[in-house]
Amino acid sequence: MALVNEHLLKLPDNYLFADLAKRINSYKITHPKAEIINLGIGDVTRPIPQVCIDAMHKAIDDQTNPLTFHGYSPGQGYNFLIDAIIKNDYASRGINLERSEIFINDGAKTDSGNFGEILRHDNSIGVTDPIYPAYIDSNVSCGRAGTLDDGYKWSNVIYMPCTPENNFIPPIPQQRVDIVYLCFPNNPTGTALSKSELRKWVNYALENDTIILFDAAYEAYIQQPDIPHSIYEIKGAKKVAVEFRSFSKTAGFTGIRCGYTVVPKEVTASTLNGKRISLNRLWLQRQCTKFNGASYISQRGAEAIYTPEGKQQVKYIIDYYMENAYIMKKGLSDTGLEVYGGENAPYLWIKAPNQLSSWKFFDKLLYEAQIVCTPGIGFGPSGNEFIRLTSFGDKEKCKEGINRIKRII
Ligand code: PLP
Repeated sequence: MALVNEHLLKLPDNYLFADLAKRINSYKITHPKAEIINLGIGDVTRPIPQVCIDAMHKAIDDQTNPLTFHGYSPGQGYNFLIDAIIKNDYASRGINLERSEIFINDGAKTDSGNFGEILRHDNSIGVTDPIYPAYIDSNVSCGRAGTLDDGYKWSNVIYMPCTPENNFIPPIPQQRVDIVYLCFPNNPTGTALSKSELRKWVNYALENDTIILFDAAYEAYIQQPDIPHSIYEIKGAKKVAVEFRSFSKTAGFTGIRCGYTVVPKEVTASTLNGKRISLNRLWLQRQCTKFNGASYISQRGAEAIYTPEGKQQVKYIIDYYMENAYIMKKGLSDTGLEVYGGENAPYLWIKAPNQLSSWKFFDKLLYEAQIVCTPGIGFGPSGNEFIRLTSFGDKEKCKEGINRIKRII
């Protein structure tokens, strides 16, 4: 008899977005003429930069000729993309990385979800609260998160609440934690960490032999100069941190699929008998076993992001979304709502008025203004009084959406 991995059964089946879709559908059935504006959308809406499209067209043409045909990608990705990443994302910030420290993948969710496989199931984990749900769910799947005690908190997870009171800066835990997930700029709160705040985390990790899994999927949205784009801008981070990057939100690659993970050779963890093992070596082994590379076409598309035209076209898209964020934040703040984020990230984190719960505020926005948002509780217990809006939508729809919210607040 084959036995299933019962840890997967612990995941609540009312997964946030499925639950959301159900509520929206039932609203649509009873209000078929309503024109809903979705300001909760977590996907990008602007087309991919033309320079990436051209590069991918050419890459497809390469596949028609035996001389330029490309089959399996090299395990860690093509050097043309790895070199562009090292030069533009790291060397330009004074960070030295070797080619073998970069692993090209099909997106940050894949690697941030899978990375836990190379670490023992009984490591302790710490997460910010609220948090991008995939980090916890992937730990639940391998039994590391324990049990869901009160419907929202996992027994073996250390939660670091990020609230207006602490400016959404995760408090350093009192106890040792083996693995800490940090995501900055943050989804869902839209807030960022300054260099000095991130330094505290790197120092904590160095002192406590902790591994930081740092998700920088939104680094392209950073506007302020004192916000680090990479954790390796902090001295010592190469000993303790793995960094996940994505082209999804940078250049509209959510459907194309390409990203990368940096695993410096200096990052090590221990065997039970105290032998230090390089995580780079282990991750390479894991990837060679289970992954056959991102496509040649998507890697050529990603390479084009780093050309001068690519940088200009990416900037245009980011500016578009950040202007939306500005308009939305200003409009909502004018109503007296407490609005956070939106300055270095495409997310706005809004406190529900009159002590409404996040689902109650969700219903109010849907039923009274035909606006869809994302209820904060889906991101963790500290999200229960918040909703998340994103600035990924069409500008006119964002403006209309904010006007509608203004009318009902
Ligand atoms: N990390 C964070 C924080 C995200 O918000 C998302 C997507 O919304 C991802 C990773 C997934 O990115 P990718 O499309 O590269 O898998």
